[in-house]
Amino acid sequence: MAAYEGNVPWLFRALDYEALAREFPPPPNYFGEVFRVSRDEIRARQEQRFLQTVRRGWEIPFFRRHWGAVGLEPGDIRGLDDLTRLPPYTVKELRESIERAPPFGDFMGISPSDGARMPLVLQTSGGTTGLPRPMLYAPRDRETMAILGGRRFALHGVQPGDRMMVTYSLGLGNGGMAPREAIWRYTGAIPVMTGSGASTPTRRQIEIAKAWKVNVILGFPSYLRHLAIVAKEEMGIDPHSLGIRTLGSHLGQEDRKRIEDLWNAPCHDSYGTHESGMMAAECGERAGMHIQEDAVILEIADTETGEVLPEGKKGAVYITTLYRWGAPQIRFNINDISRIIPERCPCGGTLRRLDRIFGRNDTMVKLRGVNVFPEAVGAVVVADARSNGEYVCIVERTGAEDREEMTVQIEVADAATDRAAMQRDFAQRFKEVLGVRVVVQAVDRGATDRYTGTSTSSKIKRLIDRR
Ligand SMILES: [Zn+2]
Repeated sequence: MAAYEGNVPWLFRALDYEALAREFPPPPNYFGEVFRVSRDEIRARQEQRFLQTVRRGWEIPFFRRHWGAVGLEPGDIRGLDDLTRLPPYTVKELRESIERAPPFGDFMGISPSDGARMPLVLQTSGGTTGLPRPMLYAPRDRETMAILGGRRFALHGVQPGDRMMVTYSLGLGNGGMAPREAIWRYTGAIPVMTGSGASTPTRRQIEIAKAWKVNVILGFPSYLRHLAIVAKEEMGIDPHSLGIRTLGSHLGQEDRKRIEDLWNAPCHDSYGTHESGMMAAECGERAGMHIQEDAVILEIADTETGEVLPEGKKGAVYITTLYRWGAPQIRFNINDISRIIPERCPCGGTLRRLDRIFGRNDTMVKLRGVNVFPEAVGAVVVADARSNGEYVCIVERTGAEDREEMTVQIEVADAATDRAAMQRDFAQRFKEVLGVRVVVQAVDRGATDRYTGTSTSSKIKRLIDRR
């Protein structure tokens, strides 16, 4: 056998774990440290990490080009007060960066050839049409993400020895992979990686939860509902009897109470992306998500003018990472709509809170001049027990006038439901909540699945735009 050529970079030598844990304390240290330090201390850490991030940005072609285009030069940005001088960008510019320098884009400061000096791992954005956007993670970036994820779960009440079933999909996306790393390394709990319904059929997931005494479940709201309903109605197992102590999800506009009632357990919201890691998560108060402000800065900006808005006002979320070296994000307009909650959290934590994600600016449908979020439709659907919470919005142009119409198909919870009355009531409710008339169709259980992919995918599609 030929001698092995070249160096193999071992992960445990690629970063200083102790130094990292001091810089970004994982639980339990997190709670006595970052979670409670003064606002001045948070600001001081942000200043230092922000300047480091900007220096790194100047080494990366994407940012040199993007900043140079507005006349900025290295040294112009002297601190956080200058943050808003940096022009924001959206996923459109990231896609262009990938087209310009395929296959990974020039917004990353690392490439596969760096694998000779440090172990790299690749994950992607969630399922979209075409190829998903790839991301290479350097060891320190990836490990910090695991710490941020560990903090999230500790905030949700996860404890050492817990068995956590992860129902996010396993594969290219971070859905299942990132929680596995976070749970395993920084919580003391044990990840049980069932994945989505496509990896492990839903009935089998229930059997596993029961047999292995799973006491925490992570999943999208629709799948958490689906699991409970399958257990109860198809298997004759009362979800309350499973002893689930806490749930983790990405709630957005979904109805928290419905899920909590189904499981008899608190359900916590959280917010993360594959570019930025776990940015915010709810504590036991379940009243907004504490932002990991030592690792990320979130600004809320006006969707039209880009002007940064004061606390309390709704706008688009701009992300600046303070820990990423391989591919930092610096004023990335993710186009999610939320706001900063002005009040302090009753839990005593000093980290500011992000309100729920109200919807996405770019999936917002302009229907006859009115802005409609599919997520707001969902909030109405799950609030009515006549539906099992499954729905899909179909937008199309119809008739001789090419009139824009939205049809909302809503699954009935029970086949005996009076569908005519249900359609009438929902149409009335949508008119009140959305401010625009939509067509409502009550459909059989499972009928929207071919559009949404709820039973097989963790990327649920709620909007079909046929215009
Ligand atoms: Zn709190």
